[in-house]
Amino acid sequence: MAKGIWVFAEQREGQVKKVSFELLSEGRKVADQLGEELCAVLVGKNVSGLTEAISAYGPDKIYVVDNDALENYTTDGYTNAVSDLVKKYEPSALLLGCTVTGRDLSAQVAQRLETGLMTDCTGMEVADGQLVFTRPIYAGKTIVKAACPEARPTMATIRPNTFAAVENAKQAEVISVESGAGDIRQVIKDIIRQVSERPELTEADIIVSGGRGMKGPENFKLLEDLADVVGAAVGASRAAVDAGWVSHSFQVGQTGKTVSPVLYIACGISGAIQHLAGMSSAKCIVAINKDEEANIFKVADYGIVGDLFEVVPILTEELKKV
Ligand code: FAD
Repeated sequence: MAKGIWVFAEQREGQVKKVSFELLSEGRKVADQLGEELCAVLVGKNVSGLTEAISAYGPDKIYVVDNDALENYTTDGYTNAVSDLVKKYEPSALLLGCTVTGRDLSAQVAQRLETGLMTDCTGMEVADGQLVFTRPIYAGKTIVKAACPEARPTMATIRPNTFAAVENAKQAEVISVESGAGDIRQVIKDIIRQVSERPELTEADIIVSGGRGMKGPENFKLLEDLADVVGAAVGASRAAVDAGWVSHSFQVGQTGKTVSPVLYIACGISGAIQHLAGMSSAKCIVAINKDEEANIFKVADYGIVGDLFEVVPILTEELKKV
């Protein structure tokens, strides 16, 4: 019988993504309720040193596939490695962060294993002895609870910042698994890194986002100043991206990134359904908009009706004092 709640411990260049720690923390709770083991899966090259950081979040076991061919993420290599592991050990669930890598890998692995996958989840619980996931549908208009009673492993991707990462140090058993990367059709010729001191948008606790109301690319400096005071990432609406003011990597929404920060500050954004689809699960939303009828105020926890060019600099100065 399939047993074990597995968490894919996503790493890049020697750093484990925070979302993996969040999933291990919440995974511990559901594993205890189901009476199953909690295990992490770590894939890459020279990654054994990361097991200590992962152990701090309480897995019983860490399966490690260390292979030169898995140095960089490739769809083929990681799909082969993770699918082979799952076939060998037969966990009952496999959880991944809803990141760029997690989305790609989960779809491929689910297809390879012919199992069920619930994407973009914002909650997880045990009900009637099985894992049940919460996920927004219709661009966030409706929330459903869904389970895959027959499919094993049950697979899900869960948005970063959905759960708290709580340390729960434990001496995990580390199991090195000899596994090939299989045929890898993708060839990585070059990696172009974006240099930024700010946190990655999908992992950030705080996001300051700008829309068409910013009126031009030069005014994003106002948001960057605010972001730097509070350690935030900068995001944007599609209108700002389409206008060429910021790159597409900033875009939040249905056709951009899905974010779930602790605090989302929307500046000059009207709150179109496609934008809300990417950020409405933020724990606290602050909207600054000069139109008091703007849709964004319907989802905002705090609203400031005013000119962002006056409000944002005041906010930045006040927060500097904190
Ligand atoms: P607007 O709707 O033009 O709003 C600008 C706001 O700024 C207004 O509310 C205005 O009152 C306010 N404002 C103006 N000046 C000031 C000022 N000085 N101070 C304060 N407030 C001011 N959009 C996304 O964001 N992300 C997506 O991923 C996305 N995907 C889409 C996919 C599809 C298939 C489609 C059809 C659309 C998609 N859109 C997406 C576009 C979406 O429908 C909206 O057009 C877009 O979100 C609007 O961006 P905005 O709020 O910045 O601009």
